[in-house]
Amino acid sequence: HHADRSTVWVGREGRQVPIGPDSFTFLAGPCAVETAEQTLESAQMAKSAGATILRGGAYKPRTSPYAFQGLGVPGLEILAGVGEATGLPVVTEVVDARDVPVVAEYADMLQIGTRNMANFGLLQAAGDAGKPVLLKRGMTATIEEWLMAAEYIAQRGNLDVVLCERGIRTFEPSTRNTLDISAVPVVQATSHLPVIVDPSHASGRKDLVVPLSRAAIAVGADGVIVDVHPDPETALCDGPQALLGSELRELAQAVRRLPPIV
Ligand code: PEP
Repeated sequence: HHADRSTVWVGREGRQVPIGPDSFTFLAGPCAVETAEQTLESAQMAKSAGATILRGGAYKPRTSPYAFQGLGVPGLEILAGVGEATGLPVVTEVVDARDVPVVAEYADMLQIGTRNMANFGLLQAAGDAGKPVLLKRGMTATIEEWLMAAEYIAQRGNLDVVLCERGIRTFEPSTRNTLDISAVPVVQATSHLPVIVDPSHASGRKDLVVPLSRAAIAVGADGVIVDVHPDPETALCDGPQALLGSELRELAQAVRRLPPIV
């Protein structure tokens, strides 16, 4: 029931942003933190389009070990600095339980990615970190398994968990993964946790980000998280799914036109 659904607050006292049933939260930023300039430009684009939380990866769990793996701690420093400069709370992925303390030092919210959804030691460490957690659905995980992963965090006393549907692996090759849009209302019928949608990583295609965001709004998601880049052609990670400023504004208009379902 709407009234029983939780709101998770992200950011430090005085500039906290809600993710929950009373708002539609727009999170945006670069897939990967590459340089201070690229991160700042991405954050400014995101903010001027209406995003209220900045995303950006400093640790990138790539399919190929030869692909760009992220800047690590220097990337966290850039992200936190840009968050400070723009006034946006930041969410960033942690891929190794040993890195949880340092990521929690810089980030306002910890992200657990699709490849680590069932990494129980990492979930427990994130649960102990004292920061809200964005838990992406494993690309081969059932909804039940995803909710049980959230329980690993909750069991440590951290109920500030936001679920993120980011596509599942199917036989369809036109998109990188298949956005399981029905997961949003299914989760909301069983869990009090907020649930957002990542159309960028689900599809891997920027032309699908606006239509899939509209679908997310239509089914009652609590927000969307999208990739942006000032120059997607040179992006070190996932350029084909990153939006430019003009495309981001189109998304923002779509988001504004469709108020959240209450
Ligand atoms: C990301 O958001 O940067 C990411 C790698 O997403 P996912 O874990 O959903 O692939």
